[in-house]
Amino acid sequence: MHGTFRVGLVRYEKPYASVAAAVESAGGWGSVGPDTRVFIKPNIVCWTSATVFPKWGVITTSRVVEDVVRCLRDAGVGTIRIGEGMVRLDPKDKTLADDAFRALGYETVVRRYGVTLVDVFKRPFRKTAVADGVELSFNVDALDSDLIVDLPVLKTHAQTVVSLGIKNLKGLIDIPSRKRCHSPDPHWNLHRMVAALPKALPPIFTVIDGIFSNERGPAFDGTAHRMEVLTASRDILSADMVGAFLLGYGVRDVPHLVYAAEDAGRPTDLSDIRVVGESPEALRRPHAYGFDYNADGSLPEAMAKMGIRGVHYRKYDDTLCTYCSFMNGLVLTAIARAWQGTPWDDVEVLTGKAMNPSPGKKHTILLGRCMTQRHRDNPSIAHPIAVPGCPPKPEQIARAFHEAGIVMDPAVLKSHAVYPGRFLKRYAGRPEFDEAFFQVH
Ligand code: SF4
Repeated sequence: MHGTFRVGLVRYEKPYASVAAAVESAGGWGSVGPDTRVFIKPNIVCWTSATVFPKWGVITTSRVVEDVVRCLRDAGVGTIRIGEGMVRLDPKDKTLADDAFRALGYETVVRRYGVTLVDVFKRPFRKTAVADGVELSFNVDALDSDLIVDLPVLKTHAQTVVSLGIKNLKGLIDIPSRKRCHSPDPHWNLHRMVAALPKALPPIFTVIDGIFSNERGPAFDGTAHRMEVLTASRDILSADMVGAFLLGYGVRDVPHLVYAAEDAGRPTDLSDIRVVGESPEALRRPHAYGFDYNADGSLPEAMAKMGIRGVHYRKYDDTLCTYCSFMNGLVLTAIARAWQGTPWDDVEVLTGKAMNPSPGKKHTILLGRCMTQRHRDNPSIAHPIAVPGCPPKPEQIARAFHEAGIVMDPAVLKSHAVYPGRFLKRYAGRPEFDEAFFQVH
C-alpha cells in the first residue's frame, strides 16, 4: 500500500498518546483553528438504561471520544459538538440520548473541554441532495460544521458486510431517510444509499475505534474481540478500505465500498492508499458478518438445530430497516421459546419490503407495514395475517402468531431493554473487556 491517500494505523497502547499518534500518522487534522466548528459523530447505535448498556465492539469507547476531543482542543479548535441519533423503538422517547451521554461520561467531557452534546432527534433536519433526484434529511449541526470527525467502531454488519466510517453517518439522518436507505429499488439499494451518505457533508476525518471489534455486528448479539488498533484518515473511503481489510474483507466484498470507489474513480485494490504506521497484514483478523441459516434458508441454524419445524422464517434481506430488524431478533427468540416439540401448521413469515410468499403455505404472517401493503390482497396466499405497524408492535405480533397457531409470550417481544444484558454476560470476568473504556474519569 504505497499510494496517495494516507491512512494512519497504530496499535492502541495508552490514553491520549495512541489517538494523538493515529491523527498524526494520518497527516493531522488539516487546517483547523478557533473559528473551526467540529461535529464529532461517535457510534452509539442503540441504548438501554434498564440493564448494562451495549458496549464492547458495539459503541465507540468513551476513551477514544475524550482523547479525540483533547487532540482537537490541543489543535486550537474553537467549537466542538458531539452528536448521535441512536436507534429508538419508541420515537417519543426524549431521554434516551441523555441517559447514554451521562452513562458514557460525556457530561464530564462537556465540563472539562466545553463541548456541546447533540441528540440528533431533538434538532432540525435539512433535506439535502446526495445524488440527482435522491434527497436525505441530515442533522443541521453536522451539515453546518466545518469538519466532521467520524468515530465508528471496527465491526462487521449483517447487511452491509462492514460498518465503518461511511455507514456510521447513517446516524445523522432522520427516521424516514433511514427507512428509505433500505429501499427495494434495485439501483438505489441499501449499498448505493450508504455509499452516497458522505456526499453532501463537510470534510470528514475518520478515526476507526478498534480497541474492541465486533464480529457479526452491528449490535450486542455479535461477538466482541479486543483488537487494539486505531485507523485514521482525512479520506473516509480510504479509512474504510483499510478497516475492511483489517476485518478480513477486500473492497470487492463490500458493495457500498465498491460503489463509493466507482463514484470516486478509484481502484478497489488499495493500490492508491499509503498506510503510515503498523502493517495492516500483521493486524488483520478475519471477522464473519452474516448470521448462519439452515441449508434451505428457512430458519436460523440455531433454531433448525433445536428441531423446530412447521415455521418458515426466511433470512432478512437488505430491505429490512433497522427498526424491523431489531424486532426480528426478539420474534425469533419468542418463537424458539414457544417451541414445545410439536410441528406447527405450515406457517411462513415474510419481512422487509421485497419478499414474496412461497407457494402452498397454510398461514402467512406479513410482518410490518411494507409486507402488509405488498401482500394483504395477494390471491396466492391462503391465509394472510397482517401485522401492519412500522415497526410492528409486540402485542400485534403476538396476536398474529397466535392466530397462526404459535403461542408466544408477548413479554419476550417487549424485552428489548434487558435483551443486551443477556449477551453481555459472556464477557463477565474477562479482564480484557474492561468497563473503564466506556467511562470518563
Ligand atoms: S415496516 Fe419495517 S421494513 Fe417497512 S418501513 Fe417500517 S421498519 Fe422498515
